[in-house]
Amino acid sequence: MEAESKAVLVIGGGISGIQAALDLGDMGAKVHLVERKPAIGGRMAQLDKTFPTNDCSICILSPKLADCFRHNNIKLHTLSEVKKVTGKMGDFVVKLRKYARFVKEDECVNCGECVAKCPVKVPDEFDMELRKREAIYPYYLQGVPSVMTIDRENCLYLTRGVCRICEKFCTRNAIDFEQEDKDVTLHVGAIIVATGFDPFDPSEISQYGYRRYRNVVTSLEYERLICASGPTGGHLTRPSDKKPAKNLAFIQCVGSRDLKNNSYCSSVCCMHATKEAMLAYEHDPKVESHIFYMDLRASGKGFQKYVTRGEQEYKISYVRGSVAKITEDRNENPIVWYEETRSSKTKKMTVDLVVLATSLVPKKDAEELAKVLGVELDEYNFFKTNLLNPLDTTRPGIFVCGCCREPTDIPESVAQASGTAERAAEIVMR
Ligand SMILES: Cc1cc2nc3c(=O)[nH]c(=O)nc-3n(C[C@H](O)[C@H](O)[C@H](O)COP(=O)(O)OP(=O)(O)OC[C@H]3O[C@@H](n4cnc5c(N)ncnc54)[C@H](O)[C@@H]3O)c2cc1C
Repeated sequence: MEAESKAVLVIGGGISGIQAALDLGDMGAKVHLVERKPAIGGRMAQLDKTFPTNDCSICILSPKLADCFRHNNIKLHTLSEVKKVTGKMGDFVVKLRKYARFVKEDECVNCGECVAKCPVKVPDEFDMELRKREAIYPYYLQGVPSVMTIDRENCLYLTRGVCRICEKFCTRNAIDFEQEDKDVTLHVGAIIVATGFDPFDPSEISQYGYRRYRNVVTSLEYERLICASGPTGGHLTRPSDKKPAKNLAFIQCVGSRDLKNNSYCSSVCCMHATKEAMLAYEHDPKVESHIFYMDLRASGKGFQKYVTRGEQEYKISYVRGSVAKITEDRNENPIVWYEETRSSKTKKMTVDLVVLATSLVPKKDAEELAKVLGVELDEYNFFKTNLLNPLDTTRPGIFVCGCCREPTDIPESVAQASGTAERAAEIVMR
């Protein structure tokens, strides 16, 4: 009981939740890290490289995933969600629902024999539905815990009572269709919310043609397309005909700074578009990239220098203007129609691929989670904080960091996570 009263609940296993858990674990606090997906890592695991250093995202994330898994003070609860919170600061009681994986975590060695035999093919969420996966699958290659999961919505046995072929071919007897969802009660002194963001769905802005035109993709889809572990093995090819994409248009502020959708700035898009254009050039110096922007926001550490490097070393052309619509020609080449601010002229540009920098929006179920936690959200549905307690929610003992607080980049998310770890430690390590 003494150890439990010293525990902290961290909700969300992206970089923010991971950092908060590691800091607390290292301070000697017990941590329950709750992630609803089959593996921790969050959006950072989906990125190819990271601005402003262009480090390989998964290479800098992987050691933290492994540290979390091995840490004596951190208990990982994947495929889990918080259903109820009662009590008060220093003494919260949390009801957790742990969903069945149908695979024994301590037996599975992620060998892939079962995947090779599974007859089901469904769109892969981690790869932004740009490839298909089986009903038994690893969430992603480097995911932690490094085990398979059976997708209950698509498994033939779980939906229709036939198949079990994975079970026949698993030499470790790791498949367990008898597993059931479990409710677990935790006693914790403080709670950290780190549930991150979702990308805005640009099909709501019909003039950009997303989903109508195959060669119009979102920035997160582009991250998977250019990533060596992604669906094209890192070859930047067009979804329509698999030809190399040589002429790229990046459209900024898609769903951000837009009164019809989200009036706030998503803060990371100017930099990630610059990075994405740099990566295309690194793959092939013949690639031409045009970034269409309203005004460029490069206010972080080293960011202006990064943009200048983009222009000078990577030949990125920054086009100040407003994009009215995207159409396409007979060969499925997107045509960008825009008004150039400097000349006030209406122009068009035909490219191979358009990348929409979609805004970072709150999770769809943010309201539900806020209700469970008894905290308030702000006008956009990010978790509410105040000016002088920027990491405190409206309920004492519950803190918030990363993109569920507001859109932020990785360094800022990590800084906030360490801040929340300190705030939580003040309560549980007193
Ligand atoms: C296209 C793109 C490119 C980017 N490139 C860069 C870059 O180069 N450099 C950079 O610094 N930043 C970049 N960013 C920003 C970066 O992705 C974020 O800063 C970072 O992912 C924030 O981490 P987070 O942990 O707060 O949220 P997330 O990464 O969203 O993680 C949140 C986690 O919480 C889990 N979760 C959500 N709800 C629940 C719940 N109710 N219960 C349990 N678990 C839950 C989610 O499954 C997820 O694992 C980019 C963003 C985009 C969209």
